[in-house]
Amino acid sequence: MSWESNVRRVVPYVPGEQPNKPNMIKLNTNECPYPPAKGVQEAMKDLHFADFRLYPDPEAKSLVHVLAEYYGLSDEQVFVGVGSDDVLAIAFQTFFNSEKPILFPQITYSFYDVWADLYKIPYEALPLAADFHIDPKDYMRENGGIIFPNPNAPTGLLESLDTVEEIVKGNPDVVVIVDEAYIDFGGKSALALIDKYENLLVVQTFSKSRAMAGMRIGFAMGNPKLIQYLNDVKFSTNSYTMNRPSLVLGIEAVKDDVYFKETTAKIIATRQRVKSVLHSLGFEFPDSMSNFVFARHPQIPGAELYEALREKNIYIRHFNNPLITEYNRITIGTDEEMDAFLACVKEYMKEKGV
Ligand code: PMP
Repeated sequence: MSWESNVRRVVPYVPGEQPNKPNMIKLNTNECPYPPAKGVQEAMKDLHFADFRLYPDPEAKSLVHVLAEYYGLSDEQVFVGVGSDDVLAIAFQTFFNSEKPILFPQITYSFYDVWADLYKIPYEALPLAADFHIDPKDYMRENGGIIFPNPNAPTGLLESLDTVEEIVKGNPDVVVIVDEAYIDFGGKSALALIDKYENLLVVQTFSKSRAMAGMRIGFAMGNPKLIQYLNDVKFSTNSYTMNRPSLVLGIEAVKDDVYFKETTAKIIATRQRVKSVLHSLGFEFPDSMSNFVFARHPQIPGAELYEALREKNIYIRHFNNPLITEYNRITIGTDEEMDAFLACVKEYMKEKGV
């Protein structure tokens, strides 16, 4: 016996690499290619350096309030955290305490099984249909909770609000978490259902559509009881999760709705164009409604394309998972970035005689 027998051993989540090379094209972690809203920059100038000696508001009231107003909710229906990863981790701790397994799709955000292992939550990863869609019938079995992203990641596929509702409605005895990290790129949020279903928690982030991945802001929306339970666990872990700059700058990002809509519309337009070029090159992919495309080519091994692009300083995401090894996840960047990406892909195909 040594001290190591008392260690909580986990296999950690592996985040996408964060290279910082001159002239790189970074299409690997679904960040927004455009800067945050102008007001964020203005507010940065007004941050009071001397205030940094003080703790921030542990309840993050100002940011909670602006989000509640924006989404037509009461403040008691909103919880904020350090990116949606923090919000989701707290939600796992708070709501998934059954002996029964929680359920999530087999191909999905690869943090879910990591949190489940970390918190010793039993789980079942349910295979998706052949077309990568979620079949709500699979989720009508005994379970200790349910979580899935909508749109799903890394497939990019959106489920209809009817599908989401069927799962929530069919599981009134457990909490169903819908991870909407990518909902702003053309999907319909399950937010519309939170007044109807007590057991529904909707989680979103500032990291993608609000161009604030570096500030680490995520939030959950649900009925006041769910939010209170989240706060109880948060205040049992770390009272001051949201730092002062994030609280101030996050508010500015929410305030500029015109910029938010313009930016997401631009990304959607680029995505549609990229899809049609990739299609004409013979790539196959689920019809993404997110800010990335999950694509494979019948004649090109996924890892090879990833490596070839990496050599050209273009970073996309390849997952070390045998189920999806032929695929790469390509974040939608600016039009210029995507043109450079597509030009490289075409050159590679020419060289390989594909
Ligand atoms: N959910 C999904 C499905 C994601 O892809 C990501 C991004 N890695 C997150 C949550 C977490 O994002 P963040 O912590 O930046 O809000």
